[in-house]
Amino acid sequence: MKKRLFLFDIDGTLIFAGGCPRIYFSRIFMELFQQDLRFIAKDFLGRTDSFIIRQALKKLGYSNRPDLEALIVRRFIALMNDEFIHCPDSTLVPGVREFLEWCNTQEDLYLGLITGNLRPSAYIKLEKFGLDAYFESGGFGDDSIERNELSRLAVQRAEKLYDAVFFPEDVYVFGDTPHDVACAHAWNYQCVGVASTESRVRPLLESQPQWIIRDYNDSGLIDFLNGASAN
Ligand SMILES: [Mg+2]
Repeated sequence: MKKRLFLFDIDGTLIFAGGCPRIYFSRIFMELFQQDLRFIAKDFLGRTDSFIIRQALKKLGYSNRPDLEALIVRRFIALMNDEFIHCPDSTLVPGVREFLEWCNTQEDLYLGLITGNLRPSAYIKLEKFGLDAYFESGGFGDDSIERNELSRLAVQRAEKLYDAVFFPEDVYVFGDTPHDVACAHAWNYQCVGVASTESRVRPLLESQPQWIIRDYNDSGLIDFLNGASAN
């Protein structure tokens, strides 16, 4: 049987992180620049953390400042480490744990991440829900500011780690925004859109993933993944 690789975005796809990570970024920008981040970086959804930090700094007049980027990253990871475990409104996308368990029972099926989260932040989020052990590698927000690059990197890392070759048609990206769909289509990977909130349905439909689910309890998902039906 051909080897398959499932790559998962995190926010809105595996979990809802709630408002805390944004609040941490806002606190940092307020402390360092006395500026409200909400007015300088509005388009967070589906963007990498590195992209958001760089865009916000640029709007404040700090272009090409890796020292400031590194300082913000350090502070953000420290806040995630200390406080995210207490974040009250973070929760799992329904059915995700059962779906990942099913994946683990499948022969020649491997899992990975493709997320705009910085690597430490990604694992802090997953660890809170006991999902971290499912994912040994991936592409992360500190690898590149461009999500399209992350999907290619995630596949390369998985191929090395598992000593495998994954053909594009056997790589599936699971994500909740058009950015996730685009990073799958850029390399001819398959994409499962996870329309985990009402507002995600239309943008996902327009970006045309191969399959769309509301959550992992979707009765047609396994059939689609096993090639038993077409969308
Ligand atoms: Mg997402």
